[in-house]
Amino acid sequence: MLVELKNTTRKLCVIGDPVLHSKSPLIQNALIRALGLDYIYLCQPVPAGGAAAWLEAARTAGYAGFNATMPHKEALLPLMDELEEDARLYGSVNTVCLREGRAIGCNTDGGGFLQALLDAGMDPRGRRAVVLGAGGAAKAVALKLVQRGAASVTVCNRTPEKAAALCAHAPQVMRPAAFGPETLRREAGAADLLVNCTSLGMAGTAGQFAGLDFLEALPRDGAVFDLIYHPAETALLARARALGRPAANGLGMLIHQAILALERFTGQELDRAALRAVAERALEEG
Ligand code: NAP
Repeated sequence: MLVELKNTTRKLCVIGDPVLHSKSPLIQNALIRALGLDYIYLCQPVPAGGAAAWLEAARTAGYAGFNATMPHKEALLPLMDELEEDARLYGSVNTVCLREGRAIGCNTDGGGFLQALLDAGMDPRGRRAVVLGAGGAAKAVALKLVQRGAASVTVCNRTPEKAAALCAHAPQVMRPAAFGPETLRREAGAADLLVNCTSLGMAGTAGQFAGLDFLEALPRDGAVFDLIYHPAETALLARARALGRPAANGLGMLIHQAILALERFTGQELDRAALRAVAERALEEG
């Protein structure tokens, strides 16, 4: 990819460890080019424990901001001068804006999820949602569903304590549940929307669902959203589609969290639909 650098070009990057596999530079540089912005987006390995030193370095080097992935998202929280509401709520920062020496911590995971859900025609307002998983992604997803006005959010997780801790954020709407096949079937039977936030089905060594028969219990128009985008169609999504249920993968979430981060970095509201198409093309061309 050819990028024109000027003396005025503003620097952005993603930090993490590991980070070299990150799609963020590909997506962000495609967005930056399409918008004709004078920014460059780099990939910056930063080892665990290095977030504070990196923040100082970024300030000194005049970075406009950066994104963060594992293992820095929680470590950045106490280092921020200001926190946006979602970052405070999730207890995690994935986007840092540096403005006049101040670090503003944001989290675009939940916003990116909601935008992708709306793109897929799955508005959760007033609907009954089931979230599978209670890790970092599940927290952003479940709390965004509550913010958007879901009628109920049931969190099914293998480790019950984690589901209970997550549901304690909004006990009037959220309820913890187990992850066994009978529970999944019962909960799916009363769900308008089922969101997979576990790593089950992800390419590599993450493992697979023990069974997917619980999807048969979903109501006719019950939708399935899988946060995973590699592979593009998980076994969960394939089965949901075979049963005629609306289904979408996590690519839209990945892209929209990047667009929302660029909105924070530049202070501009962007044309999200047009930029989603730009990012999809860039990812296809690789
Ligand atoms: P995480 O914090 O490690 O959470 C993993 C979740 O998966 C936990 O709830 C865990 O249950 C559950 N899990 C793992 N193995 C399991 C198994 N064998 N049986 C049952 N449950 C199992 O990970 P995360 O950051 O939340 O990410 C979760 C998934 O979302 C990943 O696939 C990730 O790639 C995807 N994601 C996608 C996007 C996107 O933009 N599309 C963004 C963020 C994350 P326990 O609590 O019992 O361990």
